[in-house]
Amino acid sequence: YQLSLEDRTFVVMGVANKRSIAWGISQSLANAGARLIFTYAGERLEKNVRQLVETLDRDDHLVLPCDITNDDEIANTFNQIKDEVGTIHGLAHCIAFANKDELEGEYLNTTRDGFLLAQNISAYSLTAVAKEARPLMSEGGSIITLTYLGGEKVVKNYNVMGVAKASLDASVKYLANDLGKDGIRVNAISAGPIRTLAAKGIGGFNDVLKEIEEKSPLRKTTTQEEVGDTALFLVSDLARGITGEILHVDGGYNILSL
Ligand code: NAD
Repeated sequence: YQLSLEDRTFVVMGVANKRSIAWGISQSLANAGARLIFTYAGERLEKNVRQLVETLDRDDHLVLPCDITNDDEIANTFNQIKDEVGTIHGLAHCIAFANKDELEGEYLNTTRDGFLLAQNISAYSLTAVAKEARPLMSEGGSIITLTYLGGEKVVKNYNVMGVAKASLDASVKYLANDLGKDGIRVNAISAGPIRTLAAKGIGGFNDVLKEIEEKSPLRKTTTQEEVGDTALFLVSDLARGITGEILHVDGGYNILSL
């Protein structure tokens, strides 16, 4: 058993720019020899993603559109993936969204539409893609998603996204149970705060970073590379006994009672 991903293909969903956690994961997987298929949401991001992908060593990576709110588009994307590569060995789901004005103040003010939007994009989407990925994972494999402490504990301003992450965490467990018999593992990485486009929308984000630096056991903030390397471990054979797990990559911050 080894970390190498030679001769394996993974779908990475959610690269928006070079700061995206999905990009950190892509680099770790690519360095381990994987072939990657990138999906992006909306034409606006295509150029960004293609430019980043060109910086990787191999030239057989694919870039495809996939708006996760549209079932037909998800089905089309996976049909295209099937035509191009046949079998995939895993998938990294690095996607979330909530209205900015609901990521501050009281959770109590969440609207029905805002609640459903966050659940749709940030939680249900994992189930929607797992369903389409399953037939392509005929050799078994590993699905990972990105979650956050705000789904387990109350984190100031995280609000409706915390509730969506709680739903995502539960989905990981139910999916792990459904897909285990096909040799497919499903896990989440609970990343410490990292300055990305999505994180910018959360009220008081700079204060959170400062707190992690001061108080987390490792006394430092989490990096994209740390999450990328944990993703590499989770999709590799070394993690073959792990499924349904929420693995914290946060310098130990989650163990503290503050
Ligand atoms: P990011 O903004 O780089 O990535 C979010 C991605 O979601 C973007 O690529 C965006 O295009 C995509 N997305 C939004 N709506 C979509 C849709 N309808 N269809 C398809 N894709 C859509 O930010 P990030 O921080 O890298 O976020 C990736 C994941 O990591 C998210 O699930 C986020 O909640 C999680 N996470 C982030 C942090 C952090 O501090 N940055 C911490 C823990 C977990």
